[in-house]
Amino acid sequence: MKNFKIDKKIKYSQLIILGSGPAGYTAGIYAGRANLKPFLITGNDCGGQLIKTEHIENWPGEINNISGLKLMNRMQEQVKKNNVKIFNDHINTVNLNVKPFSMFGYNTEYQSDALIIATGASARYLGLPSEEYYKGKGVSACAICDGPFFKNKKVAIVGGGNTALEDALFLSKIVKKIYIIHRNKKFRAEKILISRVMKQINEKKIDLYLNCTIKEILGNENNITGIKIISKKDIKFKKKINIEGLFIAIGHDPNTHIFNKKIKMNNGYIIVKSGNHGNFTQTNIPGIFAAGDVIDHVYKQAITSASSGCMAAIDASRYLEQLQK
Ligand code: FAD
Ligand code: NAP
Repeated sequence: MKNFKIDKKIKYSQLIILGSGPAGYTAGIYAGRANLKPFLITGNDCGGQLIKTEHIENWPGEINNISGLKLMNRMQEQVKKNNVKIFNDHINTVNLNVKPFSMFGYNTEYQSDALIIATGASARYLGLPSEEYYKGKGVSACAICDGPFFKNKKVAIVGGGNTALEDALFLSKIVKKIYIIHRNKKFRAEKILISRVMKQINEKKIDLYLNCTIKEILGNENNITGIKIISKKDIKFKKKINIEGLFIAIGHDPNTHIFNKKIKMNNGYIIVKSGNHGNFTQTNIPGIFAAGDVIDHVYKQAITSASSGCMAAIDASRYLEQLQK
């Protein structure tokens, strides 16, 4: 708290929502319609993870493969229409031992009687020493943001989930050649994505290295020039692949570090009451609710995040009603 310069004027609302992904925006729409006049704090990544995807094929009712950015912009418009005040700020620390709860952004302190945490998840990295150095110099966790920089170049993608395969399909329209490096023998992506990628593999646009991991990222001062991969099955197998871009698509970790030791969690995921007796999204602290990828290490979809955002707004609204009584 001491590290942040805080405005003397505190911004108060009975309900504050943290996050502008599908969970936060849906909570905003429901809380706005319940006339709670909530604040929504977007965080550094306005729109959340979905803005990193070109086509969304599984958002119900949206049959024309809307882009993630467009869908999230439309959600934001709907939030604004429902009397939600949006702040482009990021919460760096919280004090949950006081009432109202206190949250500190870059320059502002926010206070609320109820809080919905919908801070989602962020891309995981490999943890190789060279990876940090080459971030922005060829290493990226966002194909849609950085893919166009690699027009007609060779790139590699590491990972075997939906993100890795979607990245491969997106990049195949831009780059010359793709190498997918996956540590397992099977993908854990949707079958439709696997079959589209297999088609590209058959057409030699993509080369696939299964049971392989990246040992080293190679490069000069300014750019990466290649990777060294090894096999988990064959200790003799070593290969150097020349590439100019490396896309890391190995999953996401929940953005919950600011709540460490303040709210009950399991492996970084916030524990909510759940079950089928209502108050599903209640955390261990009365008045604090959580929704979306921060509570979910299994489904992690836009629709499941939106649905728990809706539940959190209803739970928060009932909590505030009780508080007034
Ligand atoms: P997020 O979307 O992660 O949003 C979190 C929000 O919290 C962000 O706005 C961030 O700025 C904010 N935040 C974080 N920390 C703070 C803080 N300290 N203070 C304030 N705000 C904070 N799912 C599908 O169903 N269909 C798809 O086609 C699909 N494609 C995907 C493609 C990619 C490349 C990726 C990465 C994911 C995809 N997913 C898809 C999964 C889907 O995006 C997530 O499940 C969903 O976005 C999670 O929503 P959320 O609201 O919980 O969190
Ligand atoms: P994910 O499903 O968790 O997959 C991560 C992949 O990376 C797995 O194949 C995993 O290997 C691999 N991996 C994990 N850690 C690794 C490491 N340290 N080194 C090398 N490889 C590693 O993550 P995701 O693909 O980002 O998807 C996240 C969520 O978003 C999922 O729920 C997904 O369904 C959703 N999503 C949906 C869509 C869509 O609906 N079209 C698109 C994108 C994402 P193993 O298989 O060996 O574990």
